[in-house]
Amino acid sequence: MLDKISVVLIGTSHPGNIGSAARAMKVMGLTNLVLVDPACEIDEKSIALAAGAADIVENARIVNTLDEAVADCGLVIGSSARSRTLEWPQLDPRECGIKTIEETNSHPVAILFGRERTGLTNEELQKCHCHVYIPANPEYSSLNLAMAVQTISYEIRMAHLEAEKYKGETQEVEYPRAKELEMFYEHLEKVTRQTRFINKNHPGMVMNKLRRLFNRARPEQQELNILRGILSSVEKSLASREK
Ligand code: SAH
Repeated sequence: MLDKISVVLIGTSHPGNIGSAARAMKVMGLTNLVLVDPACEIDEKSIALAAGAADIVENARIVNTLDEAVADCGLVIGSSARSRTLEWPQLDPRECGIKTIEETNSHPVAILFGRERTGLTNEELQKCHCHVYIPANPEYSSLNLAMAVQTISYEIRMAHLEAEKYKGETQEVEYPRAKELEMFYEHLEKVTRQTRFINKNHPGMVMNKLRRLFNRARPEQQELNILRGILSSVEKSLASREK
C-alpha cells in the first residue's frame, strides 16, 4: 500500500527541508519523493537533515511540472496552510490518511506540498481532487514544510496499520444476540442464587454490576458458550451433591 503513495514537494527553496521531509516520510514507511521544479539544489544540508533517509533524497524523482509528477495518479490531494482557500472538497489529516490508504487499492496517490513562502498556487490546488488542512492555531496555522509532511505521513501510517489489522481476517467475529445474552443473565442469576452467592431476599446490585461487566467485555458467541458451559457444570455438581 505505502509504495503506491508519493509525496510531491513543489518549488521547495530550502535544501534542508527536502532532507527533513525525506526523514519524515521514511520513519512512517513512505519512500516515493518527487520534487517539482525545486528552487534549490540537493546539497549536504539536505543529506545531513535526512539522516538515515538519505536514500529517499538520492532516489527522489525530479520533474519540471506538476502534471508530470502526478500523471499516473488516480487521486491527488493538495495540502494547504489555509483552510478553504477555494471551495473544494476538504479533508482533515485523519480523513486524508484513510482515503489515501483506501484508494491505494486501485491506483497510485499523490500528496502535494507547497512552497515555504507562498504554498501552492490556486492553479495547483485546482488540479487536486481534494485538499487537506491541518487544523492548527487559526492565528498561526502555517507549519514548517517538513512538519506538515510528518503530520500527514503519520496519519497515513495510522490508517495503514488499521487496514493491516483487518487484512487476513476472513472470519468475522460472531457476537451473541440480545436474546441469548438475556438467557445467559437468567442462567447466571439462577446459579448464583442456588450457590447462595446472591441472597434471595437481598439480591442487591450484583446482577446490574455483572451486566455492566459483560457489556463492557462484549463476549463473543464462543466465549458466551463457555460461560454457559461453566454454569451448567456448577448446576450439575450441585445436583449430584444433593443426591
Ligand atoms: N505561507 C504559506 C505556507 C507554506 S508552508 C501559505 O500560506 O500557504 C509550506 C507547505 O506546508 C504548504 O504549502 C502546505 O503544503 C504545508 N502546510 C503547512 N501548514 C499546513 C497546514 N496547516 N495544513 C496543511 N498543510 C500545511
